[in-house]
Order: sequence, then structure tokens, then C-alpha cells
Amino acid sequence: MDFDLFVIGGGSGGVRCARVAGGHGARVGIAEARFWGGTCVNVGCVPKKFMVMAAEYGAAARDARGFGWDVAARGHDWAALIAAKDKEIARLNGIYRRLLKTAGVRLFDAPARFLDPHTLDVGGQRVTAERIVIATGGRPTGLDIPGAEHAVVSDDIFVLPERPRRVAIVGGGYIAVEFAGVFAGLGSETHLIYRQPLPLRGFDEDVRVELAAALKANGIILHRDVTPERITVDDEGKHLALSDFGVVDADMVLFATGRAPNTSSLGLAAAGVKTGKRGEIAVGPDFATNIPHIFALGDVTDRLNLTPVATAEGHALADTLFGHRPRGVDLGQVPTAVFSIPPIATVGLTEDEAAKRHEGAKIFLSKFTPMRHNLSGRERKTLIKLVVDARTDKVLGAHMLGEDAPEIVQGLAIAITAGATKADFDNTIGIHPTAAEEFVTLRTQTRVAGGGVTP
Ligand code: FAD
Ligand code: NDP
Repeated sequence: MDFDLFVIGGGSGGVRCARVAGGHGARVGIAEARFWGGTCVNVGCVPKKFMVMAAEYGAAARDARGFGWDVAARGHDWAALIAAKDKEIARLNGIYRRLLKTAGVRLFDAPARFLDPHTLDVGGQRVTAERIVIATGGRPTGLDIPGAEHAVVSDDIFVLPERPRRVAIVGGGYIAVEFAGVFAGLGSETHLIYRQPLPLRGFDEDVRVELAAALKANGIILHRDVTPERITVDDEGKHLALSDFGVVDADMVLFATGRAPNTSSLGLAAAGVKTGKRGEIAVGPDFATNIPHIFALGDVTDRLNLTPVATAEGHALADTLFGHRPRGVDLGQVPTAVFSIPPIATVGLTEDEAAKRHEGAKIFLSKFTPMRHNLSGRERKTLIKLVVDARTDKVLGAHMLGEDAPEIVQGLAIAITAGATKADFDNTIGIHPTAAEEFVTLRTQTRVAGGGVTP
């Protein structure tokens, strides 16, 4: 065999797996069809966060006047942002390649597909491997409606030559909410169109209510409980017809309606690897597919589609196979953030989940104006919330919407993963003056879980 391990996909999960396996002394090859670093580095987390930061500067410049600064944001240069972003991404692509090479991994800049269970075609070259890892991630999926060809998906946003003046975003998930913040913050008329009463189905209800209010305050036009029916185009732009007979006029329609696993061109039948309805590859706790020497991890398994999950899985698999340290990854309590403006971060159970699984669970909640906005004059609230088990006093969930929420909740996630109780939070001295300290000064129970949302 040419390799002990061959990894298909040079994204978050694949690179980590190859790099760690190489570090353990295995003979490793890796193929990447499109861009080293994968979705996160090229068309996901990293460039998205730069865009969110860009959008926040406009409002920050206005806020600064409340602190005595004589500043005015006179407009935004989209092309300059894209050029700066591209430069940084090129640097990161190089780092990813170097990390792999340093670990002794052989790189192939080509797509790979199975010829048989141990053989791959990699850009026309035949390679054989003892074990193979599928880490091919996912791709954005649009809607199948008339005129869908006039819409774009998230990959396209990162290379737009100019910022559209009017944007219609379809979906109420992570990507929809994040890009709504980006375009509204940079000055586009922004419509968010979703089929639920509130955005972010599955998140805590208080957070969803507060997010909808924050999006409105940012000037985003919300179209709730509707689905798009068709897109037409004329000299005036694009027209998105909705199920409530409304029409949204826009220069760009963005479908942010989910992603599908990248498995269709892998020749999986030649290896006997089975996929589910959406093309996802089912794996056991050891990341093995139905073929024991072929593994899958990250977004291609379509479980929790987050970068730190993919990297943790890649690392655990490499340690298990070559590091004499068998281990899995616990997906039970994964913290996550939505980089909306303001951002959301969450770990553990929502109130609704706790109400179903932990009778009498206690809710502690606080909503306040963050200090900055007492002087900026901007109408903005921060919401923090703890869900606590009534029997054991363990903190079951922490939720926050407000500036710095992802930075704050990452720390809380350690405490909650370690099994912290509400008494542990109460016994912790705060850092003053911060928003974070509110998490350790929540003295009065707001309600029992399941008792509605806080107005
Ligand atoms: P990917 O990173 O998608 O990598 C798969 C790689 O495989 C790709 O580079 C692809 O080109 C390659 N490939 C596919 N087929 C083949 C083939 N046949 N041969 C060779 N190579 C192949 N997650 C977060 O945690 N935080 C965020 O803020 C965040 N923001 C996001 C924003 C957007 C707009 C998007 C789309 C996603 C975001 N995510 C975020 C999700 C995150 O990007 C993914 O969960 C993560 O990239 C998954 O890693 P992966 O290794 O499984 O797949
Ligand atoms: P999500 O699954 O988060 O959201 C998809 C949205 O599209 C939902 O609001 C869904 O509505 C809606 N939708 C799906 N199908 C239809 C339809 N036929 N008609 C109308 N609406 C529809 O996917 P995203 O594309 O936003 O993101 C993909 C994944 O990438 C995320 O789930 C996340 O795992 C990852 N990601 C992570 C980020 C982060 O960590 N900050 C940022 C961006 C992406 P409904 O709720 O009703 O089903």
C-alpha cells in the first residue's frame, strides 16, 4: 500500500486528522480539490467573521460620538474589504499547506474518488491506502423554485464584485442571520425571509425573541411565516414572490437554506460505503463507516456542522488509529455561536429542552442595557440566561445575546462541561464592570422552565 492513511478533503477535519496522524509517524496522503483549509477558511467562519467585523465598524463610529469623538462613517469600500480578506485567506492557505508538509504528509491538489475499497483515483493518479478518511464537508443548497437560477448562495458572497444595494435573504438559520447583519451594517436595504415565527429554530426562545427585536433595530426588514415561491427579473432588478402574496424587490437574492454533504462524486459505490437520504455518511462512535477501514468525519456526516467539531473528530481519529490513544468526541454539550449583530452564544439545554427532560428546572434571566450604550445612546439590550436543574443544582444551559457573547460563553462552557452548579456560579467573584459578571450575580429565579418568554 502507498499510504497507511489517505484523507479525502483538506478542510478543518481532514487537515487536522492528516497532520496529527503524520505527527504519530504514519505515512499519510491528503487530497484537496478546491482550497486548503476548506469551507471554514475560504468561504465560511473566517471570511464571514471579517465581514461581520466590517459591518460593526459603521455603528461603532456612530457610537463613538457619544464618547466625544468627532467621527463620521462616510461610506464603505466593498472592494477594499474583499481584497484585504483575500490577502489574509491566501496567507492562511499557505499555513495549512506548510503545517501538513512539516508533519510529513504528502499533498495532492486534486479531487479523489474511490476505484475500490483500498484504491483511489486522485487527479488521474492511482493511490492505495490501508485506511481512508472521508472529510469532504458540504455545499450550500438552494431552493427548487422557478427562477432559482437568479439567486446566489453563501459561497458567492465572498467574491461579489460590489455590494448590492437591496438584498433579500431566504432562511432563518445561522448563515441567513449572519449575512443579514453584514449587509444591513454595510448599508444595504436588507430583507430576511423565513418560514418560522422567529429566526433560529432550535435556539432558546428568549434569545430568538430578542434577536428578532435586535435585527429590527438594525433596520432589517423581517418577513416571518412565509416561503418564497418564485424569482423574476426585469430592468428594475429581481422580484421575489412570497407565499403571503407579498413581493420583495432586490438586487440580490441569497438562498441561506442549509447545506448538503459532498458525497455524490466520490464513487462511494465502488467502495461499498452507504449514505443516507441527504447523502450523509453514517458513522459509529469510532468514525467508521459500514466499511471498517473507511472512516468519515466533519460536515460530511451531517451531525453538528461546526469547525471545532470537525477538528476534534479528526484529532480523535488520528490519535485512535496511530497514537495508541483510542478516544471519541462527546457531541452532547457543544457550545456554539451565531455571529449575528449583536452575536449569540449558547451551551447546553434550552429552556424548552430542560422543561421536557428536567422537571421543575429553574430559569434565571437578566436583560440590561450594556454599559457602552448608556453613553452611545443606541437602543440595544443584552440578554443572559441560565437553565438550572432543580434537583442537582447543575447548570444545564447558558445562553447570551449581546456584545462579546461568544467570548464569554466559551469560558462558561468549560464550567458547564465540568459539571458546575448554580452555587459554583454564585460563589465566583465577578469581574467588574463587565457584562460577563451578570452570569455570577443572578440571584433571583425568574420562573420554572416552560413558563413562557420574558417580555
Ligand atoms: P470542509 O471544511 O467543508 O472541508 C471539506 C474539503 O473537502 C473542502 O475543502 C472540499 O473542497 C474538499 N473536497 C470535497 N470533495 C473532495 C474530493 N472528492 N476530493 C478532494 N477534496 C474534496 N463553523 C463554526 O464553527 N463557526 C463559524 O463561525 C462558522 N461559520 C460558517 C459560515 C459559513 C458561511 C459556512 C458555509 C459555514 C460556517 N461554519 C462555521 C461551518 C464550518 O465551516 C464547517 O462545519 C467546517 O468547515 C466543516 O469542516 P469539514 O472538514 O468537515 O469540511
Ligand atoms: P441552517 O440549517 O442553520 O438554516 C437553514 C434555514 O433555511 C432554516 O431557517 C430553515 O428553516 C430554512 N429552510 C430550509 N429549507 C427551506 C425551504 N425549503 N424553504 C424555506 N426555508 C427553508 O443552515 P445554514 O445554511 O444557515 O447553515 C448551514 C450550517 O452551517 C449551519 O447549520 C451550521 O451548522 C453551519 N454554520 C455555522 C455557523 C456558526 O457556527 N456561526 C455559521 C454559518 C453556518 P427551518 O428552520 O424552518 O427548517
